[in-house]
Amino acid sequence: MDIRKYVPDWVLSLTPYQPGKPIEEVEREYGISNSVKIASNENPLGPSPKALEAIRAALPQLNLYPDGDAFYLKQRLADKFGLDRSRIIVGNGSNELIEMIVRTFLRVGESIVAAEHAFAIYHLCVHAAGGRTITVPHTGFAFDLDAMARAIEADTRIIFLDNPNNPTGTIYTRADWEAFLERVPPNVVIVVDEAYFEFVDDPDYPDSLAYHTEGRVLVTLRTFSKICGLAGVRVGYGISSPEVIDALNRIRQPFNVNTLAQVGALAALDDTEHIRRTQDNNRHGLVYLRQELDRLGIEYAPSWGNFLLVKVGPGVSQQLLPQGIIIRPMEGYGYPGYARVSVGLAEENERFIAAMEKLQTQA
Ligand SMILES: *Cc1c(COP(=O)(O)O)cnc(C)c1O
Repeated sequence: MDIRKYVPDWVLSLTPYQPGKPIEEVEREYGISNSVKIASNENPLGPSPKALEAIRAALPQLNLYPDGDAFYLKQRLADKFGLDRSRIIVGNGSNELIEMIVRTFLRVGESIVAAEHAFAIYHLCVHAAGGRTITVPHTGFAFDLDAMARAIEADTRIIFLDNPNNPTGTIYTRADWEAFLERVPPNVVIVVDEAYFEFVDDPDYPDSLAYHTEGRVLVTLRTFSKICGLAGVRVGYGISSPEVIDALNRIRQPFNVNTLAQVGALAALDDTEHIRRTQDNNRHGLVYLRQELDRLGIEYAPSWGNFLLVKVGPGVSQQLLPQGIIIRPMEGYGYPGYARVSVGLAEENERFIAAMEKLQTQA
């Protein structure tokens, strides 16, 4: 059979997304145990305990379909942000919302704008939908918002920003963002992916929720995967105008967010202790990692997230695997010789630093 006769070019030319290596796979391959995975920006403290309790309590109802409208979760988010529930949509991870946005706004052959080293999922979803990505180079490790606004073409439907950006960890400032908003024409949908919002502690960081106004199509995306430690149940949310949410709901699968994700996310929103502990661990971990990398003379990008883009050297991610240290090589993101290192628990960060130091003394 010639599959090319059946499947469009834009699907066959896709390269599947390569996720971080699961811990079990590395341990099986190298016959080791006790490894640390600081590769996928997961929460090193584990899931929110309140979420776990709610998830356990919901197990006996798994014979029933989930609430297709995610009523309680949306209501709680609406109360938290002081918004009407018609402005909120919940997704199977914010990744599902990214895909829904592409399918809703982009026609085959049309374009989106994204930065060269932005989150890879934007381009994957656009490519899968037969669209075209206009890629804009970074300045240093950061987005060039000015160049991104200038890159918009007549057929551009969406512009994707992640702030902080994965994998560089950088943010853009309020001043740059406000200048950017002045330049983007109103027919372009602006998506701001704030997956690491809760980790940012900087007065110049613009909260995109404050910029939802008439005459502008803006979508803010957030997730329970990082700060709440719920990456495994898949739940994120989007905020926009009621018209945009209504359009997205037309293509949404009726039961896209499962029951455990809904009850877990709802409980996690009120688990302020877990959120605070996660933020504290991250702040201390970043201070430690920066200080130790400086001491070893290893370069890294400035980060406002829960990870660092580190110039570990070519092949180093692979070399650390037999020692049970899993970091994420960044060749695929256009950073050869770099790895993305997630902030772990103190002892996990220490193991990474000790392994890097050992490599230097061996060299
Ligand atoms: C981790 C991450 C997400 C979260 O995706 P989920 O599908 O909610 O797990 C979204 N955007 C960026 C940039 C991320 O790094």
